[in-house]
Amino acid sequence: MATVWITGASRGIGRACALLFGQKGWNVAVNYRTSESAALSLCRELEGMGVKALALQGDVSDAVQVRRMASRAEYAFGGIDVLVNNAGIAQQKLFTQLTESDWDRMFDVNVKGMFHCCQAVAPMMIAAGKGSIVNLSSMWGQVGGACEVHYSAAKAAVIGFTRALAKELGLSGIRVNCVAPGVIDTEMNAALGPETMESLREQTPLGCIGTPEQVAQAVLFLAGEDSSFITGQVLSPNGGFVIG
Ligand code: NAP
Repeated sequence: MATVWITGASRGIGRACALLFGQKGWNVAVNYRTSESAALSLCRELEGMGVKALALQGDVSDAVQVRRMASRAEYAFGGIDVLVNNAGIAQQKLFTQLTESDWDRMFDVNVKGMFHCCQAVAPMMIAAGKGSIVNLSSMWGQVGGACEVHYSAAKAAVIGFTRALAKELGLSGIRVNCVAPGVIDTEMNAALGPETMESLREQTPLGCIGTPEQVAQAVLFLAGEDSSFITGQVLSPNGGFVIG
């Protein structure tokens, strides 16, 4: 049975990914940082599907915690076939009011976290001669979002990282791809408020806000054998908000 390690899986898109992979028969390592009861309840739900699940507490921005989580997952499952770098934070703030610590935290979680997790799994994937990594960017990383300059810059970095790592690891049999969602109905967008969400919905050609389950389908596709000749690419489940 194949194993996926999903960061930030306690809620939102990560949780939907965990449930979809579980439904498809994958063992799932469920990372969370603070939402312990949600992560444990998700693991019970996955085990109810007949797959193995392991809750891994840790902050992806901390290299030591990431290495510890990767070792625990490798020990429990015998290896990691797929890494989904989903853990992320967002913040809406005027550029002129951004602090250095806002900037650093944004990059520590969204970019350095992905770097740490890839470094932790790459040696075992290289040794296995196979593996797949899916990184969560955002459409704002493709086109830029006002009042989210640090978030947009971090998510653009995720795309650059994905493309470069795909070139480096291709000959080792490892694919690296990126999912760049549009506006998705999760707690991440709770701070935006109903009026902003309605305006974003109106700007979306398909006329609706996306669901975590719709993003999970894109992640599963890039993770698995159905996309075996695809690497270094960005797939954008965004309802048509950003095209091209
Ligand atoms: P969410 O509902 O806010 O969930 C974020 C998840 O990340 C939680 O499980 C949280 O864990 C975890 N997390 C946060 N900081 C962490 C850290 N330092 N270490 C480990 N885990 C951490 O977010 P979401 O909407 O599902 O977003 C998931 C990903 O998709 C993010 O990378 C986000 O940028 C991207 N995305 C989202 C949207 C959207 O509209 N929602 C659009 C485009 C891209 P705890 O709860 O345990 O702290």
